[in-house]
Amino acid sequence: ASKQRLLVVANRLPVSAVKHGDSWQLEMSAGGLVSALLGVKEFDTRWIGWAGINVPDESGQKTLTEALAAKNCIPVFIEEEIAHQYYNGYCNNTLWPLFHYLGLPQEDHLATTRNFKSQFEAYTKANQCFADVVSKHYEEGDAVWCHDYHLMFLPKYLKERNSDMKVGWFLHTPFPSSEIHRMLPSRSELLKSVLSADLVGFHTYDYARHFVSACTRILGLEGTPEGVEDQGKLTRVAVFPVGIDPDRFIQALELPQVKDIVKELKQRFAGYKVLLGVDRLDMIKGIPQKILAFEKFLEENPDWRHKVVLLQIAVPTRTHVLKYKQLTSQVHEIVGRINGRFGSFSSVPIHHLDCTLDFHTLCAIYAITDVALVTSLRDGMNLVSYEFVACQAANKGVLILSEFAGAAQSLGAGAILVNPWNVAEVASSISYALNMSADEREKRHHHNFLHVTTHTSQGWAETELNETIVEAQLRSRQI
Ligand code: UDP
Repeated sequence: ASKQRLLVVANRLPVSAVKHGDSWQLEMSAGGLVSALLGVKEFDTRWIGWAGINVPDESGQKTLTEALAAKNCIPVFIEEEIAHQYYNGYCNNTLWPLFHYLGLPQEDHLATTRNFKSQFEAYTKANQCFADVVSKHYEEGDAVWCHDYHLMFLPKYLKERNSDMKVGWFLHTPFPSSEIHRMLPSRSELLKSVLSADLVGFHTYDYARHFVSACTRILGLEGTPEGVEDQGKLTRVAVFPVGIDPDRFIQALELPQVKDIVKELKQRFAGYKVLLGVDRLDMIKGIPQKILAFEKFLEENPDWRHKVVLLQIAVPTRTHVLKYKQLTSQVHEIVGRINGRFGSFSSVPIHHLDCTLDFHTLCAIYAITDVALVTSLRDGMNLVSYEFVACQAANKGVLILSEFAGAAQSLGAGAILVNPWNVAEVASSISYALNMSADEREKRHHHNFLHVTTHTSQGWAETELNETIVEAQLRSRQI
């Protein structure tokens, strides 16, 4: 039998396109979703999304489409102004902060309120563009897997065009409490659209529960243990915690070039314990809170000064947005202050890098770390914590993990869980982690390593897709 066809729809394609004269250079990025689906052999996958570049001219669109076809990718072209209001506006300035409990944009309040309408319209238009491309490439029997908060209208638009489509929608961020969701002017439309899908998936039980109670409180529908019911028709709501491809990390550590970097780093930090943070420089990651906790730790533990460094990799993100620029300056200021306060001619306590690392360097840094610090204020899952664990088979370092990251549900027993707002608690956890006995480190690591190596991204994709297909079949028999 031929393989089940799968259309994966996400805002961004897993490919970055750069124009060179008349031709396109394409680079496949190995994000979580890509490596998840590379491992799944039972589907014949095509990707639909934005290529990360504005291509206004028809001939450019045509050549890019042809180039992407070789990678099983299909581009969605969105007019620049719409794309801006959809992506920077509604997605990143409204849904992203709200879903992470940071509220709605407040400065210039009137302008924001007025912008809601045009940004929301741009959002629906952009979602229509995605639906157009899906419809064009859809073949009977295909499963369509929609991803994330960018595409909450897609399930509705797809089912309106063809009610037989098997549609799954997965949210990679938290879904907030209904008390937060109800602040959104378009709260009901978004919920109703998502409910058009056959299966709605979340990382954790809490997010799924929040979604169901938003549907009961805001839409007045019935929540059942299985999902949400509307006039006898059930939309299944389920939990599928994503994982990583652990072998990719474990195998990388065996490569000679990675071993060389490990050796170099070990020499560089000889005599020091290494604390590590790897985060996009986003408000949700709690980077200032982490650094302040480290300062408190240095204050309270003079014996540890000049014996420990915090390596913070702050991956630049959304750099055009004012709030992200402000966060960058704020973090630089705190880092400068602490290095001025506790540094000496021969050592600085914080190495703060605004950069993106290549995969091999990232693996090497994970491997030489003694304590990883994840202090997200809210985080859908947080894969950095999984990747760290996968790279620690030899070292058995400690993971300090925010209880507000989805990963706390799965790695909670092996990690030290903290409330990132409680700087004193994080500081004492750093001290506890640095002084932990080898025996306890081994036990905690073992627990997490077992979880990370048995709950892979491949298993996540397989389970969720198979359940979507089953649900779609069940649903088509209802009514
Ligand atoms: N990462 C990266 N380049 C870097 C540092 C990290 O590509 O220089 C990757 C990291 O390996 C991880 C991802 O970025 O897979 C971050 O995922 P996570 O779920 O922790 O947070 P998100 O950025 O999605 O909020």
